[in-house]
Amino acid sequence: MPVSYLSKRLSPYVRVAAIIVVAALLILAGARVQSWRTYGPRSRLLTLVNPWNPVSETGYTARLVEIEDGFQVDRACAESLQKMLADCRTAGRNVVITDAYRSVDDQLVLHDVRVQSLVDGGLSPEQAEMQVARTIAAPGRSEHELGLAVDIVDGENPETDKTQAETPTGQWLAANSWKYGFIQRYPDGAEEITGYDWHPWHYRYVGEDVARNIYSLGITLEEYLSLFYSDEAQVEIDQTSSYG
Ligand SMILES: [Zn+2]
Repeated sequence: MPVSYLSKRLSPYVRVAAIIVVAALLILAGARVQSWRTYGPRSRLLTLVNPWNPVSETGYTARLVEIEDGFQVDRACAESLQKMLADCRTAGRNVVITDAYRSVDDQLVLHDVRVQSLVDGGLSPEQAEMQVARTIAAPGRSEHELGLAVDIVDGENPETDKTQAETPTGQWLAANSWKYGFIQRYPDGAEEITGYDWHPWHYRYVGEDVARNIYSLGITLEEYLSLFYSDEAQVEIDQTSSYG
């Protein structure tokens, strides 16, 4: 039976759906091949830390260098971060880093101060813990302890809240960060997967190839890892990788 005859017999909806499915499969196949070719063993840049995966179980050690204003990051992402900040400024944005690497002790202080402020405001300690858990990682479970995460805001509106998505800096970063290897780590609508509310100010370095794939597929790091590394234990990362 000629293909042209078949295609005429199919409803437009079925044809559109078929095209979308084939396109999605091609993108996934391309991303997978690219990932294997580029990385081989899982790079330390893909270390997963979230409420269910503490830093202590990853075997990861941050290799710190200072970037600006006294903030430190893992040296694997320093150059890309500085290039991104420079290009963002060249584009006329007032971009400011508000946090980068944090030690476990830094995270403990940050967490406890926020809990205490809510308790002072009238919540019970249990309620305060639950509320804080949606935005601040428990000590030992923050990506900031890897040195691969940065909080970046607009100098005209330096709030770490959802309004950051509307600022000129927030919009520039959302559109361009993947080109420098950074992803918006906690997107809107992915709270059940990432464990955190939408953080339009929090960017995580994963390397340029992976960032491009995650951005183009519109998925989270958790979903990317389960797609491409599902048969590999989370803790088995390659500390000797030349990619960081
Ligand atoms: Zn952050």
